[in-house]
Amino acid sequence: MGASNEDMKHKKKNNIYRREFIELSVKSAVGASLISLPILSEIGCGTTADKTIHGVCYHDCPDRCSWTVTVRNGKVEKFEASKDNPYTAGKLCDKMVNFPNDVTYHPDRILTPLKRTGLKGSGEFEPVSWEQAIKEVAARLTTIIEQDGGEAVLPYSFGGNQGLVQSDSIAGRFFAHIGASQLERTICGNPTVAGIMATNGQTTGVLPEDIIHSRFILLWGTNPVNSNQHLWLMIEEARKRGARLVVIDPFQSQTALKADWHIQPLPGTDTALALGLMHVIFKEQLQDQDYIDNYTTGANEMKAHLQKYDVETVSRWTGLESETIIQLAKSYAQGKPSLIRVLVGLEHQTNGGSAFRAIAMLPALTGAWRQLGGGLMNMTYELFGAALNWDSLNLPAALANPKTRMINMIQLGKALNDETLKPAIRALVIFNSNPVVTTPNQNLVKRGLSRENLLTVVLEHFMTDTASYADYVFPATTVLENWDLLDSWGSTYLNINEPAIEPLGEAKTNTGFFRILSKEMGFKDDYLFESDIDIIQKTLDSDHEYLKGITFKSLKKNGWARLNLPKTWMPHAVGNFNTPSGKCNLYNAEIDPPMPEYVPFKYSDEDLKSFPFQLLTLKSPRHFLNSSKGNVSHLRKKEGKPFLDMHAVDAAGKDINDGDEIKIFNQRGAVFLTARISQKVRKGVVCMPHGYWPSLMKGGSSANALTDDLLTDMGRGGAIQEARVDVVKV
Ligand code: SF4
Repeated sequence: MGASNEDMKHKKKNNIYRREFIELSVKSAVGASLISLPILSEIGCGTTADKTIHGVCYHDCPDRCSWTVTVRNGKVEKFEASKDNPYTAGKLCDKMVNFPNDVTYHPDRILTPLKRTGLKGSGEFEPVSWEQAIKEVAARLTTIIEQDGGEAVLPYSFGGNQGLVQSDSIAGRFFAHIGASQLERTICGNPTVAGIMATNGQTTGVLPEDIIHSRFILLWGTNPVNSNQHLWLMIEEARKRGARLVVIDPFQSQTALKADWHIQPLPGTDTALALGLMHVIFKEQLQDQDYIDNYTTGANEMKAHLQKYDVETVSRWTGLESETIIQLAKSYAQGKPSLIRVLVGLEHQTNGGSAFRAIAMLPALTGAWRQLGGGLMNMTYELFGAALNWDSLNLPAALANPKTRMINMIQLGKALNDETLKPAIRALVIFNSNPVVTTPNQNLVKRGLSRENLLTVVLEHFMTDTASYADYVFPATTVLENWDLLDSWGSTYLNINEPAIEPLGEAKTNTGFFRILSKEMGFKDDYLFESDIDIIQKTLDSDHEYLKGITFKSLKKNGWARLNLPKTWMPHAVGNFNTPSGKCNLYNAEIDPPMPEYVPFKYSDEDLKSFPFQLLTLKSPRHFLNSSKGNVSHLRKKEGKPFLDMHAVDAAGKDINDGDEIKIFNQRGAVFLTARISQKVRKGVVCMPHGYWPSLMKGGSSANALTDDLLTDMGRGGAIQEARVDVVKV
């Protein structure tokens, strides 16, 4: 495949969809004349009644399930997974199956604008009108921009809603228009992408559906039983057909429990393990020399480099038996077709990008790419990157390539508290995100959000721990109340989301909020006022072959469509890497260092002495997605109380018994949990779940109170697994 830069650019058609657009604009509450509508009519979506419409899950999840909603008398009567979408296969996960009641109709949902009346973080607010709230926010933003420039304003958003329209589009245009600081959105996925790109020039390898052809499946840093449930169904099918399943994970996840072989290295040693496997492959002459000769660069340099990654050394670093490393290398090289499914679990370490870079080399060494179901499976977003018309979705030409400063989202706490930052961040606009829960260094984030001289505006469904620090909270629509278009980073399906019902209360779309704010601030540029439907139509306005036969009309009729991809997808069977040479880079002179190196966690002697345990914070909850649903009581009940998993030897050393209440702490914070003594972690490692809301936990802190805001070696992601803690019984 290997979408070229040229492919990535959309080619405009001049007249398609015109008829459909007119038809829909008439039916919709929003048309091209939206700018002239009064504020309370600015709902940004159309609705349907007494019929069944199509929608799609907005979560940051690779599965991107489709659903249908039956509406009767303006209310959702039935909400069910799409049965005819082969990927969704009639099944939504536990997080979403009860979505209308869990979120849209939840009694705690915020349905009017709120203005703060108490201290920041107290959650004390009073309802105010949209007119008043928008007027006041617009006035304060205007003053800040006049005094300190647009860079004093920072947007903060991420995957709380992955709809292309509600996550960026008008919002991105608004912030570029005012010259706001740019948010470096790297909290998830960037080291993965940077590492694999350095080797292969692209991340899209084996497609999810082709895993059924694999006969040796190596899941590395991913837990599909919890977080990629529809891929898991296909893995089970592959196993029925004879595949062997191996999991590499420092934690004994639900997936690891079901695997044929669970390999449990010490956290942060993935780069060493990948290089150690390569060492064995060469030493045992298990490589596909013909593939290496024809389709890779730098094999000789790499062979020399691997001398220092001998099995004994790698065994010492990873904590794995030498024999385990040798057997894994042999099984991988000899299992045909052999597939590595690697996801973001292992990117959260300062050596994270290098780990992906090294892992991505393995299929080239063994020639695994030559077979259907063999190679590397990672993300699929590049397919949509090539197919859709992104120029029309996000920044218009007038705003392209903004030159304003970047603030890394992982270091929000630092940025808000940095007295040397010029200009200081004076306004923060948060949407699709709950940084008090999801951002490292939680107490520093809270301290920053507590600043009285910071204007914080939050668009939300619920009074989250972040919203409780806001000056103004605006009620946002849920996915059942707005239009959107959703690509996928884990599947090959494009989906449209049609609003099923009118927005409840005074909720408005994210796009609607930014249009109203733009109007109030006196902006006139058309790109700030484009309707959601218009944006979707233009985004689909592409003649790329992957979109052949997929139109706004067809999506509206069916809800989803698989991209029109070649029947057989074997991207690197004969090379064709998306690198300048067209070959897989075992050596890449453009990157320093030119070959991946294992760099151990760097803790000070004092840290090692004061905090004897390595902490893992994992997305292990089955009923929350990051912080989403963390407030829904029946899901919290199903999830149960959060545990700290400890090895029996470590627990004994601290006089801790299974079920004891304990405090986990380090220099950044403290969290109270219940001890669970098990084989889930190795000696010296403790593990706790991510996603619980601090305000709903004893002591008011959750996992990110303990994590650091270090950045990774590639992709500037968050090295959140690089943290040490101590544990005491309370
Ligand atoms: S969270 Fe994932 S598995 Fe669950 S419904 Fe959404 S897309 Fe499907």
